[in-house]
Amino acid sequence: MARLITALEAGGPESLALLEALHPHAGDGYVIGVTGPPGSGKSTLVGRLTGLYRAQGREVGVLAVDPTSPYTGGAVLGDRVRMQAHALDRGVFLRSLATRGASGGLPRVIGSAVRALDAAGLDPVLIETAGVGQTELAVMEAADTIVVVLVPESGDAVQMLKAGLLEIADVFVVNKADREGAEALAADLEAVLGLVESEADRRPPVLLTEALHGRGVERVLEAVEEHRERQEDASRLAERRRARRRREFLDAVHDGLLSMLERQGESGDAMSEALSRVERGEVDPQVAASALLRDGTLLAPPGT
Ligand code: GDP
Repeated sequence: MARLITALEAGGPESLALLEALHPHAGDGYVIGVTGPPGSGKSTLVGRLTGLYRAQGREVGVLAVDPTSPYTGGAVLGDRVRMQAHALDRGVFLRSLATRGASGGLPRVIGSAVRALDAAGLDPVLIETAGVGQTELAVMEAADTIVVVLVPESGDAVQMLKAGLLEIADVFVVNKADREGAEALAADLEAVLGLVESEADRRPPVLLTEALHGRGVERVLEAVEEHRERQEDASRLAERRRARRRREFLDAVHDGLLSMLERQGESGDAMSEALSRVERGEVDPQVAASALLRDGTLLAPPGT
């Protein structure tokens, strides 16, 4: 599995052949995303959830995503610290993923890695992010249910709204309930959610946990399950997955077109001619772009 994911990460023709082979076997597993600010207790919660799923006899995949850390021994060390309790459990596969600076590539790698774990029968797959930046939010698009973990220190509900967390959350967890301010934050969140989501059945539950001591974690698992059932009843799960496949396809087309364009930019006559005229100020940039696109030769595959 580790070698498979490494090959998928590399991209290129080999990874496409692997994805094609995986395709008939993937698609049934449930994907749970866990996101929230650093230090809110995501790893601890994911470890606890993994334990509960293992107790049900399920085999669990965990992808720990850290776009900021270089993909080095640090990630391996991180794995050990995060999931010590499951290190020797053959029913748990854990992998850290990082972008090594290649922005935009991470969502693609996550999609591929999820399919590999899913095809191997790991269900659920848990995806955990290190923080809540744009990349992490994009990574969460791979999830069927998104759990947002907050702590009193991470700010008030209005800040969460600004960070885009309220929009993506299917389940809210206010962790470190042993600390002061947790209940106030939960109440604050409930109030804001009541304002932004009028349909009660879509409103994410707000749950208090102490992940460190395992308190309240079973309720999180139940809330994920309830969310899954609600989505299935209303065909929203199928719709969510359809939208995800569509987005991944369009992103891949978009990326492919961009790299074709970049190649053209280096060698293509039409592109470089238009570019130098634009640079010299001989023609309006938007008019030149439109003319180049209409011309149609721009996207002709190399050699035609
Ligand atoms: P992450 O960065 O969001 O993955 O957070 P971690 O799971 O690494 O947890 C950050 C720190 O918070 C660790 O020292 C945990 O032991 C601690 N922690 C996790 N859950 C709780 C909790 O319920 N209460 C308290 N007091 N500390 C917790």
